Amino acid sequence: MRGKVYLVGAGPGAADLITVRGAELLKRAEIVFFDALVQPDMLALAPTAKKVQVGKRCRTISTDQRFINRCLIEAALKYDVVIRLKGGDPMLFGRAAEEMAALRTAGIEFEVVPGITAAVAASAELQVSLTRRGVSRAVTLVTPRIGQGEGDSNWADAVLSADTAVLYMGAGQAKEIARALLEKGMPRDTPVSVVENASLATSRRIDCVLAELAAAGDIVGPAVIMIGKVFEQAVSREEQHPRSAVL
Ligand code: SAH
Repeated sequence: MRGKVYLVGAGPGAADLITVRGAELLKRAEIVFFDALVQPDMLALAPTAKKVQVGKRCRTISTDQRFINRCLIEAALKYDVVIRLKGGDPMLFGRAAEEMAALRTAGIEFEVVPGITAAVAASAELQVSLTRRGVSRAVTLVTPRIGQGEGDSNWADAVLSADTAVLYMGAGQAKEIARALLEKGMPRDTPVSVVENASLATSRRIDCVLAELAAAGDIVGPAVIMIGKVFEQAVSREEQHPRSAVL
């Protein structure tokens, strides 16, 4: 008999921002392979499971993706309930495609349990809607990071053509990102919000304009760079305290 692998979204960090389904599965899990982004208190939701870190965090130790795929397959031959716990939503910038392909090839049953992705957690933190009537009808989730063996990236064009853009895995290169976008002709006064550690007690926000993004400085936690008119502070203040509440 073979077990089943669940690719579970852990959400942005806060232990109570996992889905009920994800939490129930963690309770039943026999083994959990978790990412570096998963917070320790979330692992308490899996009291009886063996916990294995298969960390991936830029510039620190990372586990080879093929090794992770192999671990999942081997675990499914041994255990009934195997969980691959991933930060945010498993299907966004989470290498879920590779894991699912490997499981499919090995003939192992799997299921994906969605999670709250960083973009929406950051949006909640900022109290700024990513869509807004008359201002933003398109949201682009994009990463400037180019993996090994990948070709050229059109990330800057994707940002330029979006009403609202949320950049993942880019905070460490804020300066280069700002420069590339300015070179492409994006206005210097385009509003930007950077949210670090969204949903956690350590969360931090930086509000600025594109020309100032280079100075965003020392961001150590995971962070998203959010770009677009919806982040205009004057506008959001106006929204919270309308000058004329005409009803
Ligand atoms: N699957 C994840 C993304 C993994 S890529 C998701 O859906 O959210 C890792 C990137 O996600 C980080 O570099 C950062 O850009 C973003 N991220 C993850 N957690 C975050 C958090 N709590 N606050 C801000 N950004 C976060």
